[in-house]
Amino acid sequence: MAVKQDLRTPIVSVMGHVDHGKTTLLDRIRGSTVAEGEAGAITQHIGATEVPIDTIVSKCGNPALRDKFMVPGLLFIDTPGHHAFTSLRSRGGALADLAIVIVDINEGFMPQTIESLQILKRFKTPFVVVANKIDRIHGWEPQKNAPFIVSYNKQSERVKTELDRKFYEVVGELYNAGFNSERHDRVSDFQRNIGIIPISAVTGEGIADVLMVLLGLAQRFLEGNLHYDASVPGVGTVLEVKEEKGLGATIDVILYDGNLKKGDMIVVGSLGKPLHTKVRALLKPRPLTEIKSEEKFQQVQSVTAAIGVKISAPNLDSALAGSPVRVVTPETVDAISEEILNELEEVQIDTDALGITIKADTIGSLEALVNELKKEKIPIRKATVGDISQRDVVEVAAIEDPFYNVIIGFNVKVLPDAKDKVQSTEIKLFLSDVIYRLIDDYKDWAKEQKELTE
Ligand code: GDP
Repeated sequence: MAVKQDLRTPIVSVMGHVDHGKTTLLDRIRGSTVAEGEAGAITQHIGATEVPIDTIVSKCGNPALRDKFMVPGLLFIDTPGHHAFTSLRSRGGALADLAIVIVDINEGFMPQTIESLQILKRFKTPFVVVANKIDRIHGWEPQKNAPFIVSYNKQSERVKTELDRKFYEVVGELYNAGFNSERHDRVSDFQRNIGIIPISAVTGEGIADVLMVLLGLAQRFLEGNLHYDASVPGVGTVLEVKEEKGLGATIDVILYDGNLKKGDMIVVGSLGKPLHTKVRALLKPRPLTEIKSEEKFQQVQSVTAAIGVKISAPNLDSALAGSPVRVVTPETVDAISEEILNELEEVQIDTDALGITIKADTIGSLEALVNELKKEKIPIRKATVGDISQRDVVEVAAIEDPFYNVIIGFNVKVLPDAKDKVQSTEIKLFLSDVIYRLIDDYKDWAKEQKELTE
């Protein structure tokens, strides 16, 4: 079969409960390939890391496998996905084509594990479950240079029994969440069953299996989704809006179709009407070999999908993380702006006349937070993207019912002038980067208030 020319690299996001090992796994995928100087190594993008097919197959010691796969590699979104990144959207679907759900095998499923599975179900995203931290099983003998979990056979009977027991707990929990699953070495049909791979993100055991299974999932499910056309105007999603020294506000973008050139006119989702601007510079990270260079980025003239790239352009201050970016011409600018506006309105939220106020850093995370609050039947007065401003505080302080003098902020800051205002009012702030924590804290507080007023 071999790599097909018009198929882009699938985009992969890593999800799971806090502390279950998302960051360590991503570091390992990046680090081990760089350190070992393997074939093809990796390519660093803005906001993402690409592991080429050559690197993946060289890990399994069988370069002939290369011909079995049609995708050029895997593009991992670097920021471990909590909701903000996992529910990022491309037109009509999730931005990530594939996902890894990581679970600490010693701790089992936790609220964010279940949330991750729900998101994947909603977007119908193929995924693999990795049961992490197997090295913590008492008596585990780490196997050096064993990226495959065949090292399982080298463990003592007691360790194997313990791993099997924990493994079947994961199987049971997946079943409760509505999925059938099977162990990676017996994976035969991804259509029915979710593969589970025991790994250690610390020792690296099992990681090559994970990469292989992702390639397998791409092969089975994604061919229809991965066709791209390098000759059409670029289409992407904003991962982050960032201030850069000397450049002002820039956007980190995943481009998943078409091409993008210096000088192109683009439309970007923003607070209010989509903004138009002209690409002043396209920036990629400097290659690791040039790391000594003063400059973090190198400029390029053009890029094609799928790629993570930084765009420097005037007026990007109001750009909105999670929203679309499209290359336009004077003929298409109005129609595309309208499309983006509609797309963003779709995610606007039904609110209640009286309720709490919520803020989040991206559209995806705002939606996730709203969904969770609705499940708890907590009324929402207003839900918007961005840091907590003085205006937010003034509005909330003016509400007469003390139950609703509340702002819940997910992954946001309190702006300096708003801080002073908070101190001079009676409003209650809940801030965290973990949704379920926000909801639990809010519920505890609300219960206390109720008891006080009864
Ligand atoms: P995240 O919150 O999901 O990104 O989790 P991290 O990657 O930050 O990991 C949380 C903690 O678990 C860190 O102290 C890691 O060193 C540790 N950890 C992650 N993976 C493993 C593993 O495979 N084995 C062991 N022993 N520790 C791990």
